[in-house]
Amino acid sequence: MERYFQPEIECASREQIKAWQDERLVKQVRHVWDNVPSYRKKMEEKGVTPEDIQSSADLYKLPFTSKADLRDNYPDGLVAVPRSKCVRVHATSGTTGKRVMAFYTQHDIDLWTDCCARAITAVGGSEEDVCQIAYGYGMFTGGIGLDQGSRRVGCLTVPISSGNTDRQIQFIRDLGTTILCCTPSYAAYLGESMHEMGMTPDQIPLKAGIFGAEAWSEEMRQDIQKTMGIKAYDIYELSGPGVAFECSAQSGMHINEDHFIAEIIDPDTGEVLPEGSKGELVFTSIDKEAFPLLRYRTRDICILKREKCSCGRTLVKMCKPMGRSDDMLIIRGVNVFPSQIETVLLNHGYPANYQIIVGRVKSTDTLDVHVEMTTEMFTDNVGEIERRQKQLVDGLRAMLGLAAKVTLVAPKSIVRSEGKAVRVIDNRKI
Ligand code: ZN
Repeated sequence: MERYFQPEIECASREQIKAWQDERLVKQVRHVWDNVPSYRKKMEEKGVTPEDIQSSADLYKLPFTSKADLRDNYPDGLVAVPRSKCVRVHATSGTTGKRVMAFYTQHDIDLWTDCCARAITAVGGSEEDVCQIAYGYGMFTGGIGLDQGSRRVGCLTVPISSGNTDRQIQFIRDLGTTILCCTPSYAAYLGESMHEMGMTPDQIPLKAGIFGAEAWSEEMRQDIQKTMGIKAYDIYELSGPGVAFECSAQSGMHINEDHFIAEIIDPDTGEVLPEGSKGELVFTSIDKEAFPLLRYRTRDICILKREKCSCGRTLVKMCKPMGRSDDMLIIRGVNVFPSQIETVLLNHGYPANYQIIVGRVKSTDTLDVHVEMTTEMFTDNVGEIERRQKQLVDGLRAMLGLAAKVTLVAPKSIVRSEGKAVRVIDNRKI
């Protein structure tokens, strides 16, 4: 049985990985300096030249790149090779602000394919498997990215794309699909649909799922695993899935360190934090040609762990992102992310229509969460409402380590501005 496992890279010594990173970073910084005027300008403003970067230990000297930089340079201001060398372009949906376009040379596509193939191999994929790609294809990177990886592994690849649940289930049954790739919310929906059709986990041929492109919780993982009788794995993306992937240990994602360098910084000061600290995740792509990113601030709050993994890989692991640095609240000294609160609500079957109200009474912070009920769950039975509120209070305490007050409110009663609910009201600043 052919496997795409590359122990000489994935299980390489720390010294070997560092040697690759040092060499590639030095080359990449020169490439960017020579070919991308806006990177060069930012380096000049910081007083850094390529000569200052002799190894990955000098990475901290480089300026950061933000999402705003990507948008401001739309469509191709950060592209480091002539258009004639690019073979593909992808783009974000552009629902907030401007779009971001990412360009790829054939070399970039090959290394991206390599990352996705490792991810599929790490969940047990081989040429014996049938891999159904239920991520969207097109300008979105999810579908094509994992499709490339699946074919490199040698799986029978099903490019079904997203949606059309009945057809998804039919293909899973008829082809005996063993690996499913899609967003976690779609996986949960597929699982429920199969359950409603009377399919029990032992009647579902799937053994593993690779679920990414949106935040999901450990509870959601357990639910999906139980409904479908599979192992559910996480994957991390940065202009394409596969930057980091989960292995059989299911305890964080191995970062493809031969292609990317990860750092954790203090989101307020930009200072690099020691390994094991919680902070904002920053990525540098060290061997991409067309669209290299230097110290890209992901805004994801995360911890990096370098410890021996039961799978044998030595690549550093990142934990599941704990939230976004731009919306972190500090309540009674505890870091709270709206996404954590949302996770608890979704896990209890509530829609993501809620409002978080932070206040202060006699120098103690208060946390109130207003949650909309759906039309189906709406009731005027006070006892029932109190029981459900208590359930959410317990769920929030377990997630945040904080006591919150929960109020269930009538459907569609939370005010929306331009169609979106105002999530957080912090009255402490007044
Ligand atoms: Zn591992």
